[in-house]
Amino acid sequence: MRYEGVIYRPPSEFDSLIIQATIGCPHNKCSFCNMYKDRKFKIRSINHIKKDLEYAKDIYGEELEKIFFSDGNTILMKTKDLLDILSYAKSLFPNLKRATMYGSAQYINLKSLEELKELRNHGLTRIHCGMESGDDEVLGKIHKGYTGNEMIKAGKLIKNAGIELSLYYIVGLGGRELFSNHAINSAKVINEIKPDFVRLRTLMPRMGTELYEEYKRGDFQLLNPHEALEETKVLINNINEINTCLVSDHISNYWNIEGLLLRDKKSMIEEIDYALSLDSSNFRNPESGSL
Ligand code: SF4
Repeated sequence: MRYEGVIYRPPSEFDSLIIQATIGCPHNKCSFCNMYKDRKFKIRSINHIKKDLEYAKDIYGEELEKIFFSDGNTILMKTKDLLDILSYAKSLFPNLKRATMYGSAQYINLKSLEELKELRNHGLTRIHCGMESGDDEVLGKIHKGYTGNEMIKAGKLIKNAGIELSLYYIVGLGGRELFSNHAINSAKVINEIKPDFVRLRTLMPRMGTELYEEYKRGDFQLLNPHEALEETKVLINNINEINTCLVSDHISNYWNIEGLLLRDKKSMIEEIDYALSLDSSNFRNPESGSL
C-alpha cells in the first residue's frame, strides 16, 4: 500500500486494513485539529486505490474481513466511485464484513438517502463521524462547518440507510464558559439520532492549532479532570435510555466510562461519582500529551 503523510484511524479500526482513498481533509478548518494541516486535500485515483487493494490481497489473502478507507471525510467522494471501490474490495475479499470511513455532517448531507442505501448495499457498514458537539455556539467557535440541526439530519440519514454510526464527542470542547450547554445540547442531538456508538475523547489542545493559541493566551479555559468528569455526567444524565453504546476508547480520557445507555446509565453515573471522589493525583495531568 502507498500512504501519504501520517495515517489516522479510529482505535476501533486497529485490526482493519487501511486503504488511503483520500488524502487530507476537505474542511481542514476545525480550531482544535492538526491532523491534516500538512497536506492539501485530494482524492486518489480509483486505479491507484484498486491497485492498493490488489496489493493487500497479495499480502493478506482473500480472508481479510475489515477495511478502513482513510483519510478525513472519504464520504465526500462521488457515490459512483465509492460504489466502485466497495464492489472491487468485495470481489477481492469475499469474506469482507466491514468497510468503514470518516464522514462529517456537511459531507454526509450532500448524499441522498437512496445513495447512502446503495452504499450500504455495496458494503459500507459504518461511518465514523466527529460530531464533537451538538451546541451551535461551540460548533461555531470551533469552525466545524455545521449546526446541531445539520448534524441531526446527517445522523438520521446514516441510520435510516442502515449504516452504523459512531459519533465522537469531545469533553471540554466548550471550555469552562460553555461547559453545560455543550453537554446538554450534545445530548439532545444524540437523543434525536440514536447513534450506535458515542465515543468520548477529552480535549488536549494540540500545538499548531487555533485553539492551542487561545488556550495559551488565556482565552480558553481547559477543564481539569473533575470538571471533565462533571461534564461527562451532565452529558450522560441528559441522554435518554437509548440503544446506544457509550465508550471511552481513547487515552485522552480521565476515566474509563462505558456501557449501554439503555441498560447501564445508573452504573456509569456511579462510576463517575466514584472517580469524582478521588483526588487529582489519580488522573493524568490535563496538559500531558497535548502540548
Ligand atoms: S476534525 Fe475532522 S473535519 Fe475537522 S479539520 Fe480535522 S479531520 Fe477535518
